[in-house]
Order: sequence, then C-alpha cells, then structure tokens
Amino acid sequence: EPIDVAKILHGLNHSQRDAVTSSAAILQILAPPGSGKTRTLTSRVAWMLANGMIPSNIIVATFTNKASKEMKERISKMIGGGLENRLIIGTFHSIATRYLRKYGHLIDIPREFGIADTSDSSTIITRIIKRNKYPTTDGNDAGNIRSRISTLKAKRMTVDEYILSQKKNNHDDEFGKIYKEYEKELKSSNLLDFDDLLLRCLDLLRQHPLCVSNIESVLIDEFQDTNLVQFDLMCLFAYKRNKITIVGDPDQSIYGFRAAEIGNLKTMKEVYPDTIVINLEENYRSSAAILHCSLEVIEQDKARPQKGITPTHEIGISPVLRKLPSPDAEARWIIQEILRLRALTGNIFKFSDVAILIRSGGLARDIEPQMNNFRIPYRLIAGTKFFERAEIKVVLDYLRVVVNPNNSEALAKVINVPPRRLGSKSIEGLVAEAYKRGMTVWTLIRKGVRGDLTFQTPITKPGERSLSQFIKIILDTQNLLKSVKCAEQGNVAPIIESLLEKINYKNHVESHQKPGEDRWPHVEELIVQATEFCNNLAAGIDEADLPDTDAEGNPSDESKTSVALGKFLANAALATAKDGPEVDEEDGEGVLTISTIHNAKGLEWPIVFVPGCYTGSIPHSRSDDTDEERRLLYVAMTRAQTLLYLSYPCELRDRKSGDKQESNLCDFLAEGQLAPLMTSKGPVITPQTILSFSKIMARDCPSAEKVKETLEAAQLHWQDDWVESDDPPGTVSRTMPMNGYNVYQPRGGIQGF
Ligand code: ATP
Ligand code: MG
Repeated sequence: EPIDVAKILHGLNHSQRDAVTSSAAILQILAPPGSGKTRTLTSRVAWMLANGMIPSNIIVATFTNKASKEMKERISKMIGGGLENRLIIGTFHSIATRYLRKYGHLIDIPREFGIADTSDSSTIITRIIKRNKYPTTDGNDAGNIRSRISTLKAKRMTVDEYILSQKKNNHDDEFGKIYKEYEKELKSSNLLDFDDLLLRCLDLLRQHPLCVSNIESVLIDEFQDTNLVQFDLMCLFAYKRNKITIVGDPDQSIYGFRAAEIGNLKTMKEVYPDTIVINLEENYRSSAAILHCSLEVIEQDKARPQKGITPTHEIGISPVLRKLPSPDAEARWIIQEILRLRALTGNIFKFSDVAILIRSGGLARDIEPQMNNFRIPYRLIAGTKFFERAEIKVVLDYLRVVVNPNNSEALAKVINVPPRRLGSKSIEGLVAEAYKRGMTVWTLIRKGVRGDLTFQTPITKPGERSLSQFIKIILDTQNLLKSVKCAEQGNVAPIIESLLEKINYKNHVESHQKPGEDRWPHVEELIVQATEFCNNLAAGIDEADLPDTDAEGNPSDESKTSVALGKFLANAALATAKDGPEVDEEDGEGVLTISTIHNAKGLEWPIVFVPGCYTGSIPHSRSDDTDEERRLLYVAMTRAQTLLYLSYPCELRDRKSGDKQESNLCDFLAEGQLAPLMTSKGPVITPQTILSFSKIMARDCPSAEKVKETLEAAQLHWQDDWVESDDPPGTVSRTMPMNGYNVYQPRGGIQGF
C-alpha cells in the first residue's frame, strides 16, 4: 500500500518541510527549544521510508531509550505497516551493543560479554585501591576515579596512551596504575563498561566496515550532547553513503561535565564541507511570556551568538518567581498551587500535566514526603533506577552469572545471597586468591570444592558445602536454559522464577526488609517486565535483528531463550532512570513527574515547577562551569508550555547539624531585566486564560458553562499569608485554609472538589 506523504508533511511549517524533504546529504538542523527539531527528525525518517528506503538501512540515535520508543510510535502513526520496528534505533550505547553482539567475535569479543554498569565499575576500582593499599585522600575515591577513567575514554584516550603521556611529563601516578588494572579486571570478567561499548564498536567498525555497509542514512537527535567517540561512530556508521542528519541546540548543551563535546558541531562542518544548515525559528511549545523569560536568562551568556526565535502562542501568564521560608514550605506551596489550579480550571490539568524539575536528586527529599502526605501520585526520575534497586540487582547479577559464570563481579555479589556462611572477608579472600592465580572466581570455587587445588583457599568446610549448592544452582539454571522445553520459547520469565525458587528468594527479601517496606512486589514487577520484553522481542518490536551484511555474520548456536536473556540483561544495564515501570494511575488523573533537569531534556509539560533556584543549587556548588549551569536552568524553563513557577527557600537547614543557613536567589534570576517579566503573585484564572491553556496544549477547552461553574463554585484564592508564613515546626498542613474547602481527603486520593 503506498504511503500517504501528505500525512507526513501535514502541519509542518516551511522550514520544517524543507528540512524533512531536503536532498542534502549532510544536514544540520539547529534550532532553539520547542521549535520542532525532534518532530522534524521523526518526520524525516518517515519521509525516507515513504521514499522506499529500507528501515534496517537507517540508524537513528536518540538520547534515551524512551525517546526512541516515542519516535517509533510517531513514525508508526505516520506510515504504519510496522516498518518502524525494523529501524536500527536507540541510544548510541544500545546500537553499539547490538553491533557488538552480532559482530563482536570478529574482534575477539566473546558473544556473552556482560555490561559493567557504574556501580560494577566502582566496585572493581574500590577493590583495586584496597588491594594496592593506595591512600584514598579526598577526591581520590572510587567514584571520582571512575569518572576520570570515563572522561578519558570518552576522549578516546586508551590506558596505554595515558600512561605514555604521563611518562613524558615524568609523572608516574597511581591513577594510571588503577586505570590499567581496571582494564585488566574487566577483560578477565568478560565485561565492557559503558564507554567500552562505544570504543569497542569503534574498533569493530574501523576493522570491519562491512558490518555497516548497508547503512544508507544516519540521523541523530540532541547532537549537542554527543562526545568525541560518538562523533567517530557517526562517521563510521555513515561511511558508505555519507548521509547524515543531526538536530541540536548549542544552548541546551548540558553534559559537558561528562565530556560531551560542543565542538562536534564545528568539526562536522570541517569533516563534511558540504554540510547544509537549516534553522527553525518558531517556538510551538511555550507561551510567549515563558519564552521571553527563558531567553532573558540564556542571553546573559554574552559569548553566545544571537539568534532568532519567535513565539507562535499568545503572551499567556507571566512566570511566577516565589520566595518561601524553607524547602518544606516550598514543597507545600507547590502542592497547594497544583490543587488550586486544578480546582480553578475545572480539572483541565491532570497530575500528568505537571513536572517538578530539580537540579539534583537530593531536592526530592523535601518534596516526596509532601506528595505522600497529600496522596498525589508521582514518579521520581532521579536517583535509584528500578534496575538498581538492591532486590532487583541481586536477581540480575544471578542471571549474569548464569549467562557468564566468569563474570567475577556479579558472582562476588551473589555468592552469599542468601547467606551461605561466607563473610565479606572470605569473599574478598576468594577474589584476591583468584586474581593472584590468574583464574576467575568461578574456576577457583569449582576446583576448590572438587579438591583439585594445590593451594589453600579461604573456604571453610561448611562454606564448601554451601558453595557446592551455589554451583549446582547455577549449573542447573544453565541446563534449564538449554533444555528443549525452554530453549525455543524465548521467554526468560520461567528461568527467573525457577532460579528464585531455588534460592528461596522471597523469603530472603521479606526477612531482610525494614519494617514498613514491601520489596517483593518489585521482584514480581521484574518478572512481568521480562515477559513483556520477551513478547516484544518475539514480535520484533523492541529490537529487530541486525540485517546480514557482507561482513561475516555470527553463526549462532544459542537457543532462543539464551539470546533473549542476553538481550534482557543488556537492556536492564542500559536502562536510564526514565525506563522503569510506569506508575499505575489511580483514577485517570495521571501521575505527576519529579525529574532532574538532565533527565527532562527534550520533554515538555503544561505546568513546570523549578524549585531550589538558589545559589549553590543552581549554579551547583560543585560545578565550575557557570555557563553550563545557566543553560541547565534554560533547559528547565523551556520545558513549560502554559505555566512556569520558579521558587527558592530563603533559609536552608543542614541535615546533620540542624544549623540554619541563609540562601539567596540565584544570579541567573536576579538580573534586573528579568524582574518585570515575572510575578510573585498567583496567576488569576479566567475563562480566557483557560481557553488559552487549551490552545497551547492543543486540547479541547471545557465548555463555557463548565468553566463558569467551577470558577464560581471554587472561589479559591492564592493564600499569600499562608505561603509566606513560617509554619510552626512539626505541623503538616493537611487541611489548607482554602475558603473552607477541605482539600485533603484521607481515602481515595484527591478527587471531586
Ligand atoms: P527540544 O529542543 O526541547 O528538544 P524540539 O525542538 O525538539 O525541542 P519538539 O519537541 O519537536 O521540539 O516540538 C515541540 C512541540 O511543538 C511539540 O509539542 C510539537 O508537537 C510541537 N510542534 C512542532 N512543530 C509544530 C508545528 N509546525 N505546528 C504545531 N506544533 C508543532
Ligand atoms: Mg527535541
């Protein structure tokens, strides 16, 4: 069935259409937030498919896995037919992983390689530091060393190059030695860390470019935050036809601290002198008032080139800038305002229309308890990811051992779960012994319990017995994976269930949780996710197999279920905080989002709160790049469509000592020109404003009668005195004085004012 091209171009403006249909081989689409870059890129992919390009010949790199999912959904709406499922689409890391799984053997990467996530890397480094008795002075802890290594790798500097450069400078530092040992340990456990995934893929494609000889077009979103290695990958992906489209916005580059290279935009023009640049200048996301304010912030950067940006929406409501007595009062003010807005607008805003964007995860500590107090359903996109929960990690680590028992990292983590009378001392002893003898822990313990060792190990007699049990569990699970019954099903859930039963995991989890905690449901959720993942895999939705190219494909004798398990584990390791399970909606009102600003990139919400706008938080006290911090605030502000609230507490309290400390509005917002653009009062809601909200959100407006009704019935006021007053400590304003309306309802959530 021919594809309806009009559907792809429908609703796009002139420059967007030009970009979508451009015949330019190398295209840079540079434009401010909300100008439709992502939408244009998505349409361009659809356009290519409509013109007969084969989906598996197109690589699309997005910033998160969720973004690629959304992109696929949109493409599916435009062209249908399931073509989107065969695109090679995902983050750089997941695309690289797919190539390494299929072709890694060409550069001697064993197919069952595991992925070391940041916590694995830190564990390895901690062990190296201990083993060599390196002093851990300030700034020399495992986390710091890990990020230094990561930065070097992102700049393509191998350990040998690093050591060489230090020698030239007559330096002989411990860091180089740690780096070297770290690489060795990863290799012996058959692990690749996040940076290795990209670097090794680069090696692969340099040596075997045929792996990507089918690629006709490469498209990249959020290009301003790519690093040098990703840039090289882009060139290699595209080597055959040299067709590249990137979209980006230098004003939104916020990952410099992780070695993102803003210079990539310029380098691209040097490498490809025929680069065509298209600018988009209309903003479709935000009200003009929000846009003006955001521009006022970013324009404080005097080194930044001036550029055009025009609002397409009317002026709307001025952003609110508010000072609160304390972080706790700030949190309650936010909630009160959300409830007031919902009541005043006849609930055209759902909770899912609201985001609270924070500079760092810690700020959520003041907000979460209040959300719970007022029973507002929310999800937190910061801090602990679903797959990083302790009870989930154990299961994943067990599975990693099943797939690859030589993964000593994973093995050391689960060998004593549930407790097998192996203290952390004996485990460390085992790891050290294995290291000394040049074997993996798995080989060591297998030989040990068989009595095949010529040397002493730290294993005691009772320990030996439980180790044999452990070994048996792993071997049995491996056999189950291979068994005819299971192998062809491609579903890993039964494997997980059988494993958990063997280790009596439910009992372990429930007896090791704090009172009031309920962790087992998370494990059950993991099993649900595994089933879903495998179903999608079978349907070719999540990750179609890479097409065969002229490069030597991988003759696989693996069972379907083993392949699925490998992919499931890679998926878990590469998941970002955003990729956890969705929170259940209670009543169709949706779930509010609390997210770090970094994780909010590329997204939009009708109502955005940015609390904690004080010096020390943004700009952050640990950052020395003021311009990047300003851009971060700009990214936060430009997520908002209709209403933007900035706030800060004027007094902080130290968590440990309880000392009070004054805090000040950050300089970015204190500038003279900004004040007239903002208000400290609550926005007045009228039928007209409701109409304008609906327009910006592209939603139906509630009927005039309904609006009148809710406005009259509610008569709620912005409680100026309440928000500024210092509440007596320890009281929680459960019922807020909103003209006698009891906002808090103990059961059944907040419904029906
Ligand atoms: P960011 O820099 O934040 O990633 P962006 O440039 O990628 O932003 P999009 O997310 O693609 O912008 O678009 C922002 C909003 O504007 C979306 O809701 C999108 O649907 C809408 N939009 C884009 N182009 C148009 C258009 N031509 N007409 C109407 N709405 C549009
Ligand atoms: Mg975008």
